[in-house]
Amino acid sequence: MLIVKKFGGTSVANKERIFNVARRCIEDYQKGNDVVVVLSAMGKYTDELIAKAEDINPKPPKREMDMLFTIGEQMSVSLMAMAMESLGVRAVSLNAFQVAMHTTSTYGNARLKRIDSERIRHELDDRKIVIVTGFQGVNKFDDYTTLGRGGSDTTAVALAAALHADACEIYTDVDGVFTADPRLVKNARKLDEITYDEMLDLATLGAGVLHNRSVEMAKKYGVQLVVRSSLNNSEGTVVKEDVKVERMLISGVALDRDADRIAVMGLKDEPGIAFKLFDCLAKKNINVDVILQSIGRHNTKDISFTVSDKDVDDAMAVIEANKARLNFEDVQCSKDVAKLSIVGAGMMSNPGVAAKMFECLFNEDININMISTSEIRVTVLINEKDAERAINAVHDAFGLSE
Ligand code: ASP
Ligand code: MG
Repeated sequence: MLIVKKFGGTSVANKERIFNVARRCIEDYQKGNDVVVVLSAMGKYTDELIAKAEDINPKPPKREMDMLFTIGEQMSVSLMAMAMESLGVRAVSLNAFQVAMHTTSTYGNARLKRIDSERIRHELDDRKIVIVTGFQGVNKFDDYTTLGRGGSDTTAVALAAALHADACEIYTDVDGVFTADPRLVKNARKLDEITYDEMLDLATLGAGVLHNRSVEMAKKYGVQLVVRSSLNNSEGTVVKEDVKVERMLISGVALDRDADRIAVMGLKDEPGIAFKLFDCLAKKNINVDVILQSIGRHNTKDISFTVSDKDVDDAMAVIEANKARLNFEDVQCSKDVAKLSIVGAGMMSNPGVAAKMFECLFNEDININMISTSEIRVTVLINEKDAERAINAVHDAFGLSE
């Protein structure tokens, strides 16, 4: 078997944990498997690099940030190879250049395009454990790029797809995918299985486990994933196309505190206004999420939407800069909002799921600012101060607790 195993920052945070990971990989290797290991930077090292950079230049060039970021993952993989060698097993570390992981050009948010598998194959044939840097890639200018925070998961899935791996295991510091973030909801329960679509929504909505693009890619290439703990031997959660067990109405509840709301008021109620507004944001690469447009009155309307915290200042600046063209009366931004979502494939065939969520929030006297839905998801925007109470109440209302 060819197994791809990915370990996150906490799993390689110190010497003891590095050896723990090394032993787990060696176990598989000694059973005769080919083992490819993908690592993140140790602990909070990526955050430390950001702090170092911003201390020198508050707005560091993105190219230089990526150049800096790559040392984090490079440190983990080389130390891991040393650990394995010291345990008597042959191992080799490779960075994105050495493998050749080709990405799009965008620094800080590149997408993997193609992975050359030749070097890895060659090293595996030589009976080495191959340890690859997560998160990083190389663009057409031969510069380093990175895949966005948490991007090592995507590296692992992409490698599993490129190598036609038999298994892709994502190791983390929790036991798997939970019905809600166990740090926020004490009664959260581990799921045995979840579909790609549900996982994609949960990942995008801030469940904190798995990079959303990794799930997108797993679905696209049919890579079955297992999310499990690096600290114990429990089974974890399988992410795949279809789940065996009868579906619960809801699989999970996610909270995203990073969401901020922007309201543009007094726009002309005529064709092309929404296009102009969102086009100028898109041109600045700003992702917009929940959108709400009011009914037109006296020939004007309001449009509000959410953006992530990291983009909100840029978004406000773009809108202000286009004031003449967009021709609105006022623009406001509120940062103390949070997005609460329920996700479940079961809601496709069951009416009343949204109503149940709204009733639960009403019972808690929590006001809803915006609502958006998809086939398998209901999202509400609420005040951040209510967020923790809301997620617990909704989790209970849908019977997700143990
Ligand atoms: N080290 C990177 C980060 O902290 C990538 C990853 O951990 O997946 O975002
Ligand atoms: Mg992660």
